[in-house]
Amino acid sequence: MAERIDINHELMLDGNATAGLLYEIFGVEMTASPTECAHCGNQGEIGDLLAFTQGPGIILRCPACGNVTLRIVQTPEAIFLDARGAVYLRLSR
Ligand SMILES: [Zn+2]
Repeated sequence: MAERIDINHELMLDGNATAGLLYEIFGVEMTASPTECAHCGNQGEIGDLLAFTQGPGIILRCPACGNVTLRIVQTPEAIFLDARGAVYLRLSR
């Protein structure tokens, strides 16, 4: 693992802390939605991801390997969602 995640543990929240923003983006409750890490294959709920919210955007990392699963950056005009770290996101109908 090239990235060091241990130094930021005091800034870490769990994914539930981002529930409001995820609801705003997807229009459905997302914290109980399953997802799979594209790096290590760990499967879990979005609410189980490790959230880092102190930076310019929000980073959600895999709790098993530390891979960045989701990256969300908000600007006045748009929300940018980088989900390349997830094999999939599941949105309930
Ligand atoms: Zn992982």
